[in-house]
Amino acid sequence: MIVIGGGVIGCSISYHLARLGITDTLLLERRQLTCGTTWHAAGLIGQLRATRVMTELAKYTSDLLFELERETGHATGFRQNGSISLALNGERFEELKRGASMAKNFGLAAELLTVEDVRAMYPLLNLDGAVGGVFLPKDGQADPVGVTQAFARGARQRGARIVENCPVDTILVTGGRAVGVRTADGQEIRAGTVVIAAGMWSRELGRKIGVSLPLHAAEHFYVVTDQITGLPQNLPVLRVPDECAYYKEDAGKILLGCFEPVAKPWGMTGIPEDFCFDQLPEDIDHFQPILEAAMARLPALETAGIHTFFNGPESFTPDDRYLLGETPEVLDLFVACGFNSIGIQSSGGAGKVLAEWIRDRAMPADLIDVDVRRMQPFQSGRHYLRERTTETLGLLYAMHWPYRQMETARGARRSPCHDRLAARGAVFGEVAGWERPNWFAPEGTERHYRYSWGRQNWHEPVGEECRAVRDAVGLFDQSSFAKFLVQGTDAVRVLNRICCNDIDVPLGRVVYTQWLNERGGIESDLTVTRMAETSFMLVTAAAAQARDFAWLRRHLPEDARCHAVDITSGLLMFGLMGPNSRTLLERLSGEELDNAAFPFATSRELELGFARVRATRLTYVGELGYELYVPAEFATHLFDVLLAEGEGLGLRLAGYHAMNALRMEKGYRHWGHDIGVDDTPLEAGLGFCVAWDKPGGFIGQAALARLRAQGRPHRRLVQLKLADPARLLHHEEPIWSGDRIVGAVTSGMYGHRLEESLGMGYVAADVPIDTNWLADHPLEVEIAWERVPVQAQLGPWYDPDNTRIRS
Ligand SMILES: Cc1cc2nc3c(=O)[nH]c(=O)nc-3n(C[C@H](O)[C@H](O)[C@H](O)COP(=O)(O)OP(=O)(O)OC[C@H]3O[C@@H](n4cnc5c(N)ncnc54)[C@H](O)[C@@H]3O)c2cc1C
Repeated sequence: MIVIGGGVIGCSISYHLARLGITDTLLLERRQLTCGTTWHAAGLIGQLRATRVMTELAKYTSDLLFELERETGHATGFRQNGSISLALNGERFEELKRGASMAKNFGLAAELLTVEDVRAMYPLLNLDGAVGGVFLPKDGQADPVGVTQAFARGARQRGARIVENCPVDTILVTGGRAVGVRTADGQEIRAGTVVIAAGMWSRELGRKIGVSLPLHAAEHFYVVTDQITGLPQNLPVLRVPDECAYYKEDAGKILLGCFEPVAKPWGMTGIPEDFCFDQLPEDIDHFQPILEAAMARLPALETAGIHTFFNGPESFTPDDRYLLGETPEVLDLFVACGFNSIGIQSSGGAGKVLAEWIRDRAMPADLIDVDVRRMQPFQSGRHYLRERTTETLGLLYAMHWPYRQMETARGARRSPCHDRLAARGAVFGEVAGWERPNWFAPEGTERHYRYSWGRQNWHEPVGEECRAVRDAVGLFDQSSFAKFLVQGTDAVRVLNRICCNDIDVPLGRVVYTQWLNERGGIESDLTVTRMAETSFMLVTAAAAQARDFAWLRRHLPEDARCHAVDITSGLLMFGLMGPNSRTLLERLSGEELDNAAFPFATSRELELGFARVRATRLTYVGELGYELYVPAEFATHLFDVLLAEGEGLGLRLAGYHAMNALRMEKGYRHWGHDIGVDDTPLEAGLGFCVAWDKPGGFIGQAALARLRAQGRPHRRLVQLKLADPARLLHHEEPIWSGDRIVGAVTSGMYGHRLEESLGMGYVAADVPIDTNWLADHPLEVEIAWERVPVQAQLGPWYDPDNTRIRS
């Protein structure tokens, strides 16, 4: 096993592999340990992340730092003084309170602070304009070099080898697998697994062998003052996100760092080979606005001399989440890079789970947020990354508004109908580089988001779209959905092993299925259409394109007589949804399409205008509806024809926010939110998709059968309806039963057909969760530190008998 890179991440990976008993590890460092980004990190160690698993990993790092020091005898400098986040306006305070509620749910201690509390804890602060704060007592700070050296020493003590001054020139690949490396002096070293942990150099190492690792360096600044008289010792870390600043007290000095709104990408022509404990030129003008605000906030800074002005490069990814796991392009090649300024605090957790991932060749927990397979190949392009990086650094301290859209590097992937949609008021959001109409702004209204924690400016327009889908017909451009073809004489056998449902169905049938991992968790949620005896079309979410295709390829046996092709770009899709959709298609095609001619969950060709279209009778919105698959060159023609014929039938363009609202009412799960790699179909209420008895079985069957044998699940996905429809659920709000947290919200949306505020979430207990349990246990959801009663049930709120879909 070879690990490339001796920063905090590479050393942690070697250490954790060794802890698992994998000691035949060789870490190769280009120059000296820590000489890249690690040596100059500020050393903040926070614990609260956006998901439970990510928080658990950060918590693990903190716990480990003490243990590591004891084990290796090397100081990590870890001090657990806590952290204060200060809000300067009500909306920021709501964000902090939502975060604090989330922390509670993740088992982290969190306290709400009044302005007076903050004053008592951080006496020298000017609190003008402050409205409150949140204290996380277990946060702290550490010495990044100390942490790295401790990992390195721990790894060596357990038998791993670390070699400095040995740059890797390239990774050796044979038959699609990593088989070793060639060093700069021409030596070839063979290994069964190679790990790229080369910080900002990682993208280039990947590029040389056709592996896409989207990250770009940005200049990252802080200053360290001289000693400040009267500064209390052991102050908590202070974050003032509204002023883009953080403060760390150390030995009577203040380190003031920033996440400014417009960052400076660096290293556009490549990262210099000789970079070693280097820093970048000062840029006082760039830092000045932060410094001025900080001097007003902490007046002691006005008189303190600046001891150090530091500017160093750190890698940022297009979505501010790091890149972890096995690459989709090359097997046995793992990565851990792009740490977006949280590499030190993530080092323990990331090292631990990557080591387990390498050992098991399977993702050990729900790490889909950071899974490298979420990225699309185009995202490692220099122009794209450079532009996006100006935004991502600042986003770390920007308001984390619900539905917040990226503003840079937009317009990469567009449907052929993009301009037509734009001309009709579409307001676009971005997923996997695709521009997708999220909502349509009515004529005369502004065409951009007005963010808030409550109803945003698209609430009413989306209501109109939803009502049109309910009462007439809505047209959704779903071109971004990923589509794969699997063809060949072994297609049935191979797909039936990958899918948990039975796809050996009559021609023209469509099967809703999941792909499971060996633990029975859901890796993908998709539909499979049998187009011919040996030909199947698979349709999955836009964001899952690279990930699902990689899973498919990985599970196609080498000797299988079938192949998979990604046809996403050539085949576009419109969703035509609502009670008038059938009439519209009948008028255009001249065919009768009643239930006998075109039953639910079937697919057939139709002639619509000049186009031959594959129409599939399915819905993700809970109405009679069709997915229309059309070759890309016919897309605009079909769009025009549908719009013209739909005019008399009340057709309205609808966007992804409407789709989300509609699917929420109908209880349709969303992979990545409501279902994922740690949720089984039994818990998720998708047991009806499991073909237990099909010949040959399926991946994950053994684990799932064991769980089924244990009886009804003690953890279930439930449908939630808030007592107060003015409040909105978003993500990870705790669900309470009496004085116990019993679960958390996975997604939420306002349902316009029912005029209710809805959500979904898992609830767990010591006994099976069923209708009786729900009746006996009134639930509440905590929103921004406040509990709101909520109704819960297992089935959907809207049309539970499916009469509308099958009408
Ligand atoms: C100003 C600043 C403040 C920060 N503050 C914090 C903070 O408070 N908290 C926090 O958690 N994080 C912080 N960070 C981020 C943190 O420093 C990084 O996320 C972390 O150090 C990344 O570690 P790494 O191991 O991925 O990269 P690096 O430390 O860059 O390590 C990569 C190593 O790979 C080696 N390498 C590269 N190419 C090759 C090759 N071909 N062959 C062999 N070796 C190679 C390099 O020499 C380097 O040593 C900060 C960063 C900056 C710039």
